[in-house]
Amino acid sequence: EMQKAKNYVNEVYEAVKKRDPHEKEFHQAVKEILFSLVPVFAKHPKYMEGGILERLVEPERIITFRVPWVDDHGKVKVNRGFRVQFNGAIGPYKGGIRFHPSVNASIIKFLGFEQIFKNSLTGQPIGGGKGGSDFDPKGKSDGEIMRFTQSFMTELFNYIGPDTDVPAGDIGVGAREIGYMFGQYKRMVGSYHAGVLTGKGIGYGGSLARKEATGYGTVYFVQEMLQDKGLSFEGKTVVVSGSGNVSIYAMKKAIQLGAKVIACSDSNGYVYCKNGINLHTVKRLKEVERKRIREYVKEHPHAEYHEGCTGIWAIPCDIALPCATQNEIDENAAKLLVVNGVIAIGEGANMPSTLEAIDVFLNNRVLFGPAKAANAGGVAVSSLEMAQNSMRISWSFEEVDAKLHQIMTNIYRNSVNAANEYGHPGNLVVGANIAGFLKVADAMMAHGIV
Ligand code: GLU
Repeated sequence: EMQKAKNYVNEVYEAVKKRDPHEKEFHQAVKEILFSLVPVFAKHPKYMEGGILERLVEPERIITFRVPWVDDHGKVKVNRGFRVQFNGAIGPYKGGIRFHPSVNASIIKFLGFEQIFKNSLTGQPIGGGKGGSDFDPKGKSDGEIMRFTQSFMTELFNYIGPDTDVPAGDIGVGAREIGYMFGQYKRMVGSYHAGVLTGKGIGYGGSLARKEATGYGTVYFVQEMLQDKGLSFEGKTVVVSGSGNVSIYAMKKAIQLGAKVIACSDSNGYVYCKNGINLHTVKRLKEVERKRIREYVKEHPHAEYHEGCTGIWAIPCDIALPCATQNEIDENAAKLLVVNGVIAIGEGANMPSTLEAIDVFLNNRVLFGPAKAANAGGVAVSSLEMAQNSMRISWSFEEVDAKLHQIMTNIYRNSVNAANEYGHPGNLVVGANIAGFLKVADAMMAHGIV
């Protein structure tokens, strides 16, 4: 059975590579999922029928569009916009929008593919989608950001809606951009659909605790892993890459739980402060002033700034929370973390560890919280935002935070149980992928060949 399942998975994987040979990030995400499902196909051959996997790896729809805009000097610029509606078996497509120069079809497809399983794991009724543009927000004025974002939505609005596809933020898209997108959507359709986007401002349909949700959720997840070993965040040293929304609130919750955060970064470099990073400074620099992290050392001269972002993983720490971007931890970085005695990894970013890095962590018995599970808190609270919008009510911060905490605990338990049931105890990569897959696969089987 095992061999048959392996052959089947391999066949599907080879077909994916052949169809779009240059999409290496997408292949990486597909490879991780597919091979972790082998025990499912071996135990329940029914999942090999009906083309479940063949359909899962092919997006239901990909929309690619031109985004023209005019910069502050009157020059016409053109970017490319994407929305992938990957799988809608268990709910409307749901997933963020990323504005970053690295965005292309491969990046959007890997993110959309991961979102299917992540969203399923949350237990909420949301399908998988993702969008974005190769637009680079760095150095752009507020006016340029608004004009670009409006142009992006002028095309995207045709394809989204509260029961169709519900975008949110991701790298380069925060409260400001969501606000501009919401305004433009409202203008285009001529009526108020609060639930068409999540991550909205609190005054116009946003949810309390959505901003904190991804980072808090990642820490709640790691807390579960630690607790199972009789450990906690208390007194631990933590390295958190990134300094965006995920990173800032991961740091905040880790500090609240008694940990010492000794480093964080942005795409230019990282700051190291052995006495603990001052989060107020990071928050002000990043959220209010939109400056680079190197500015931190001007206010805290005892801290060190280093150019480049891979060096951060050479800092000895108990817990590492990669909250920046894909493939930021390669095999070497993983080995360094292990040699330096890391206990736990919680992936706040999407696919921050390469496949080789994941193997290093698992082979060395490091507690490893994979992205689909550990960063699902953001999209989970997005779904709670949709629920509040439908009911035209808003829950308190404490209510949302308690639901988030419960969701993260459930994700952890379901992943542990699936890993045990399918013969990979302690392997949360396999556990999360299987738990996420089963719910979607059962829905797809119930719906027939569509
Ligand atoms: N971009 C986030 C993610 O990767 C959140 C998506 C959402 O809230 O829809 O899951």
